[in-house]
Amino acid sequence: MFFFFSYGAKQKNLGIVQAILCDVCGQFGKYEAYAIFNEFAMFFIPLYRSKKKYVIKMTCCQTIYELDEEVGRRIERQERASIKEEDLKMVKRGKGVTLCPSCQAAVEDHFLFCPSCGQHLHDDHRK
Ligand SMILES: [Zn+2]
Ligand SMILES: [Zn+2]
Repeated sequence: MFFFFSYGAKQKNLGIVQAILCDVCGQFGKYEAYAIFNEFAMFFIPLYRSKKKYVIKMTCCQTIYELDEEVGRRIERQERASIKEEDLKMVKRGKGVTLCPSCQAAVEDHFLFCPSCGQHLHDDHRK
């Protein structure tokens, strides 16, 4: 007897849900929804699927949020669903923006010094 099994994580793009002002990077971005699940298949016929997880990826800065399951399911069924802040749990923070403490300029997170005034931005050596 020969069986062909496959097991792996599948990702399904559920499309753009809504456009918002992103509070990680401060730009207008879009919520892009994905369903993620593990699938166990034999001869390419899915036998078993794990419970789905829904995630949201921001199109602006690639921040990843875990989405409330109920809202995720509604999006997958293409029902009208709107995502509220309390439905999201941040998993991975994208390229964000911090405010320079000395001149209040918006500076990308990974910068060590403020490009407009030269202030050191990630000073861990507090006196
Ligand atoms: Zn963003
Ligand atoms: Zn500055």
